[in-house]
Amino acid sequence: MTFGGNYSNVSTLAHELGHAYHQYLMEELPQFNQDYAMNVAETASTFAEMILADALLKNAGSEEEKLALLAEKVQNSVSFFMNIHARFLFETRFYEQRNSGMLDVSELSALMEEAQREAYHGALGSYHPLFWTSKLHFYITDVPFYNFPYTFGYMFSTGIYARALKEGEGFAEKYDALLRDTGRMTVEELASKHLNVDLTKPDFWREAMALAVADAQMFLDMTK
Ligand SMILES: [Zn+2]
Repeated sequence: MTFGGNYSNVSTLAHELGHAYHQYLMEELPQFNQDYAMNVAETASTFAEMILADALLKNAGSEEEKLALLAEKVQNSVSFFMNIHARFLFETRFYEQRNSGMLDVSELSALMEEAQREAYHGALGSYHPLFWTSKLHFYITDVPFYNFPYTFGYMFSTGIYARALKEGEGFAEKYDALLRDTGRMTVEELASKHLNVDLTKPDFWREAMALAVADAQMFLDMTK
């Protein structure tokens, strides 16, 4: 990877290390049990990113450094909840309209801008109607909706992280066991077996999102 030693490079390194750790845990399993679905593919990588982000925040040398790190973290949540949500809205509406014919450039751009306004709750100063031209994921035709797994993965991983913070070191074994089962269970089964939670109920997701909200609150408090 390109490594210049900045935050984003170190975070990418942690991310890829998460993927490597996931695969390492599954190495001894039969080949057919090693293949996991998209919705859990980013669990270990996002988890590793969160460990790094929190450790850096904890060890920040100054208020300024802490604020910069926090800004990165909040920005990350904004991407998962708003930017990727906009892509999802765009793609959903694109497929709906594509049913009745081709869409031209102005129609695609209008769809894109509308999706951004909605996903960002009108909070942006300017919009990016041509975003659909630049995002590779929209052109991987055999993997439609290649945006949902990122937000799902982020939320699932954050929920697991919230649990890890609560349970401390004892959670490590459960974490490994959960990752090891990712190739042979649905995500609902994984959560039920290893975390004892029902993913169809809102509780787990609320716990996860409380972490993101706490970061945003801390950022607001520090920048008053
Ligand atoms: Zn990844």
